[in-house]
Amino acid sequence: MREQVICENLKMGGKISYRTKAAAEKKRRQSREPLWVYECPHGDHFHLTSQPRYRKPEPAPSLRKLRAHLEAIGRTIAAQTRRLAVSEKRLAEELARAEEQKHRAQQAHREELAAITAMTNRIRRV
Ligand SMILES: [Zn+2]
Repeated sequence: MREQVICENLKMGGKISYRTKAAAEKKRRQSREPLWVYECPHGDHFHLTSQPRYRKPEPAPSLRKLRAHLEAIGRTIAAQTRRLAVSEKRLAEELARAEEQKHRAQQAHREELAAITAMTNRIRRV
């Protein structure tokens, strides 16, 4: 098995690759210029770079993880929707009760007024 391969990723422009980190390290030690070894973000091999601190980018989250995350969000939304429905029902009940109390108070006021009017009329007739 050859130690050196060509990176097949087009973005890397056919960059020389090493199958193992050890092979890349060996090449790095032989070089006159300072080089750094890094794992290729596009495959399981290694490259050399003259730019220090090359970092392999964070891998994208798996479809399974994303789906689980979406499902959790969906459950949260469903729970909040249920809570909102309960709150709206309670609010409607309270509004209905308040309306009923207002109606009763108005009725009592009308009765009181009628009683006073009747009393006043009796006094006037006397
Ligand atoms: Zn590569």
